[in-house]
Amino acid sequence: MAMHALSAGELLEVWEGGLTQVPAVRALSLLAAACPEASLDDLAALSIGQRDARLLEMRAGLFGPELAAVVICPGCHERLELTFSTAEMTSRSRPEAGTEISLSIAGFDITLRPPNSQDVIGLAGEAGQAEAPSLLLQQCLLSVEREGASVDSAQLPSEVVEAVTQRVVEADPLADIQMAIICPFCARGWHAAFDVVSFFWSEIEAWVWRILSDVHTLASAYGWCERDILALSPTRRQFYLDMVGA
Ligand SMILES: [Zn+2]
Repeated sequence: MAMHALSAGELLEVWEGGLTQVPAVRALSLLAAACPEASLDDLAALSIGQRDARLLEMRAGLFGPELAAVVICPGCHERLELTFSTAEMTSRSRPEAGTEISLSIAGFDITLRPPNSQDVIGLAGEAGQAEAPSLLLQQCLLSVEREGASVDSAQLPSEVVEAVTQRVVEADPLADIQMAIICPFCARGWHAAFDVVSFFWSEIEAWVWRILSDVHTLASAYGWCERDILALSPTRRQFYLDMVGA
């Protein structure tokens, strides 16, 4: 799936369209803009980990190979600025993550596939966040049998559901990124979940704010139109901003 680098104008369009979208749809809008040759159905069928591997690659192309995050230490409440490399994260991605998983636990023979965007979007309107993970799992079960006979998936004991969930995480590790953090001030260690879509989207929002203020400054100073200002290279845009003392 070849990805193309979005122009400033294209990224602004995705952002504007994404204002009214839920995060899972925003993720698809971003991928659709970067992969114009892929069908929306193919993109929606990518496992969440495969989706996020592509989003991280796309993000690296736009904002660079390192990502910076701020976390507050739960031990000493110091503010920590952390940098992570995109390549380090995507190296955990499994190319076969979209394929079926078969496992036998406690007498149950289960076949399922890792969740994809279609599943997540389908559940976005469902009430009760606490129920969403098990509903998501239900959607991904392809067959549940006990001694050769089909079993209603709602009858699965909770320890079996837990084991299945664990296998899905192992099969598609990028779908659940846990950053290992050690505080340099108090040496406390903990794991923090990293949500690729919300992180990338907040970076896009910050970028939009900067670029639209640049457009405002240059349009006010020179009378140029938005399209022409966006078409300038970042270097030349900065040159003119410096000239008008912005
Ligand atoms: Zn600390």
